[in-house]
Amino acid sequence: MIKTVVGSYPVITKEPENLWEKVLDIFGIYDRYKYAIERAVRDQLNAGIDIVSDGQVRGDMVEIFVNGLYGFEGKKVVGKVEFLEPITLKDIKFVRKIINKYSNEKKGIKGIITGPCTIAGSVRVEDYYTDNRDETLIYDLANALKKEVESIQDYVCMIQIDEPILSTGLYDLNTARRAIKRISENIKIPVALHVCGDVSDIFQELNTFNVDILDHEFASNRKNLDILEETNKKIGFGCINTKVKSIESIEVVKDLLNEALEILRNNPLFSEVQSNEELLKRLNEYLMVDPDCGMRLLPIDVAYDKLKVMVKASEEFERELRER
Ligand SMILES: [Zn+2]
Repeated sequence: MIKTVVGSYPVITKEPENLWEKVLDIFGIYDRYKYAIERAVRDQLNAGIDIVSDGQVRGDMVEIFVNGLYGFEGKKVVGKVEFLEPITLKDIKFVRKIINKYSNEKKGIKGIITGPCTIAGSVRVEDYYTDNRDETLIYDLANALKKEVESIQDYVCMIQIDEPILSTGLYDLNTARRAIKRISENIKIPVALHVCGDVSDIFQELNTFNVDILDHEFASNRKNLDILEETNKKIGFGCINTKVKSIESIEVVKDLLNEALEILRNNPLFSEVQSNEELLKRLNEYLMVDPDCGMRLLPIDVAYDKLKVMVKASEEFERELRER
C-alpha cells in the first residue's frame, strides 16, 4: 500500500550560521524555512513514506494561502480575492531536489491546498463580500485555488484539498461540492479531499464530490470505519492518532488495518475478490495509509516515530496477509 502523510510537519527553523547566511539575513532574504522543509522531507523519506509533502512549514494552513492571494491583509478580506502567483511551487521544486539528494527510490510529492470553505471560515470579512459564508467569496477562493493547482500539477503526483470545516456543519455541502468541483475538474492527476473529524453523517454527500480519494481520520474516529463498506472512491486511511503524543504500537495499527479489511470485504468493490493476492491488489488500488491529520503540533521526534510505526505496521500487515 502507498504510504503518505496528510501534510503538515513540526517546524524546525535554522537561524543564519555562516557569514554568507548572515549577510543574506541583513538584506532580509535569508530563508529560515528552507531547513524546516529539508528536515520534514528527510524525516518522511527516512521513515519510508512514498508520497511526501513539503511539511507546510511556512505558517498555518490558512496563512500559507491568504498570504499569497490578492484581496487579503493578513487574515482579513479587504478586496476581491484573486490568484496572484504560484504559492507553493517554489517549495515543491525544492522538495524534489531534496528527494533527489537523499533517496534512490521512486518518491512522489503531494500538492496540498487549503479548501475554499475552510479559508472563508477562518478569515474576517471587512470589505467586498458580505460575510464568511458569502458564496461569491467561496467561489472566488475556488477559482484562485484552481490556478494554484494548475501551477503545481506538473510537479506533484496528486493534489489534496484540505476542508476540515466541512465536518462542523458550518458550511452548506452543496456550495462546498460546487466549489471543490471548480478546483478539481480538468486536473490531470488524482485529487483527494481531506476532511478530519467525524464524517459518518456527511459521508454520503462527500461520496458524491468530484474527487478521486476521500481522506479521513480512522484512528481517532472509529465511527468513520463504516464508510469503508459503502465508499466508491479510494480512501486515504488515517491510521495514526495525531492528537496524542504517545506513540501507538505496531500491533494497534495492524489491528486497525485488519478491521478495515474486514469491513472492506463487504464493499461491492471487493465482492469478486477470491485469493489473498487479488485482495492485496485491490487494497493497493483503493487504500493508501497516512496519519489521521497534520502533525504540526507534535514534538518532532514523536511525529517521526509515529510515521515509522505506520510504515512498519502497514508493511507487516501486507506481509502477513500474503502469507495467510
Ligand atoms: Zn485534518
